[in-house]
Amino acid sequence: MTPAMSAENERSIFGRTFFCECGKTHTVQPREVLYARGAAEQFPALCARAVSGRRVTLLMDERTRAVAGRELGRSLAGGGWQVSEILVPDPSRGHSPICDDLTKDALSARIGETDLFVPVGGGVMTDLARWIAEDRALPFVSFATAASMNGYASASIAGTVRGVKSLLYARPPLAIAADPAIIERAPLELTASGLGDVLAKPVSTADWRLNELVFGDYYCARSAGLIAEIEPLYADHPEQIRAREPKAMQGLFDALLLTGVSMSMAGTSAPCSGGEHMVSHSLDMMASLDGTEHDLHGRQVGVGTLLASELYRRVLAVESPLFRAPPPEIDRPFWGRLADGVAAEYGGKVGRLREAAQTLRQKERWNLLRETLTPMLRTPENLRECLSRAGAAYKAEQIKSAKQRLLQAFLHGHEIRSRFTILDLARLVGVMPEAAGEIVEEWS
Ligand SMILES: [Zn+2]
Ligand SMILES: [Zn+2]
Repeated sequence: MTPAMSAENERSIFGRTFFCECGKTHTVQPREVLYARGAAEQFPALCARAVSGRRVTLLMDERTRAVAGRELGRSLAGGGWQVSEILVPDPSRGHSPICDDLTKDALSARIGETDLFVPVGGGVMTDLARWIAEDRALPFVSFATAASMNGYASASIAGTVRGVKSLLYARPPLAIAADPAIIERAPLELTASGLGDVLAKPVSTADWRLNELVFGDYYCARSAGLIAEIEPLYADHPEQIRAREPKAMQGLFDALLLTGVSMSMAGTSAPCSGGEHMVSHSLDMMASLDGTEHDLHGRQVGVGTLLASELYRRVLAVESPLFRAPPPEIDRPFWGRLADGVAAEYGGKVGRLREAAQTLRQKERWNLLRETLTPMLRTPENLRECLSRAGAAYKAEQIKSAKQRLLQAFLHGHEIRSRFTILDLARLVGVMPEAAGEIVEEWS
């Protein structure tokens, strides 16, 4: 089977309900995905298949109004819809909107009765609309403008609540539409960010599997393997992403949707968010502590993925580890005003860390872990080449971070979430913290 044909199979999962080997019955949302030139013309019919009402609220910022929103509004009005256009203002000159509770509440106050929300844009527009729709128990249909992140089809909101970055659960969209002409023209920086986010998949999936192997946690192989057949469309020819070649761009866009689907299927972000994401989240939190700017999520994730995959290589190379006691607590001075929240997350897994060391001291369990995870991973050499050929970030200095700063994020990433990842395992077997400096030096 050619990659393109099997990619068709993977795309056919949208809207299906099926019983899975993992024991769950999965219902895959969105029900419908439209990726077509001139998508705006077909959009009113798509929305009409999704809901019965005819009042629609479009959410967009200046940029996404220019590339798609204006035309969508015209098309919907022409199709008999009563259209309200809500322009999300920039918080200040040169800064695009963010997804936080203040922005969401201010927008919500401007929005009247409606039957359907339509975010026009990327992560921030999608999450703001998803949040407002969830508050009102109303549906939404996304119009995506960039292959920039894997949240379009996901069931969570990455929002800031009272100053703290949070992951809130909400429904996925009923449908997603995108016009290849718009996706291909999006700033390369955004596309490369999307690539960084999907290239994290082998590491985050290995982390997810690690939790099954060590603790017997839920794991769904179908969801974990969802993008296996689409991956070659962009990962084997990353320069085609830089060149905005249509097949590679569609492959990347599909992979972003399907990784979002894998999270909804699993009911957790674990399939797409492991130790590499914690490095990125730590950079975000450090930026909020010192009031500086951080880079795009996926660009940071790409660099975090290089570090995590090298960490995996070193950990899995250990034949007979000598387990160390887990670090008993977090570095409170480092986290400053965020220390209480971080300590609560870390406190939630200290017991699991001890349990992991206990379990993995059994030689056969350690061997099974090495045998299972090794073939799931990609080498950091391969990932770095892929990122660089695609024109994506692969070095600390490209993501607004000095090496020293990235090193701090790498050293503190295990503290910020209760999830067990390679960052924790590396400490238990004594690879971290010693190797951190060398890995950052060599791989960023
Ligand atoms: Zn399953
Ligand atoms: Zn991500």
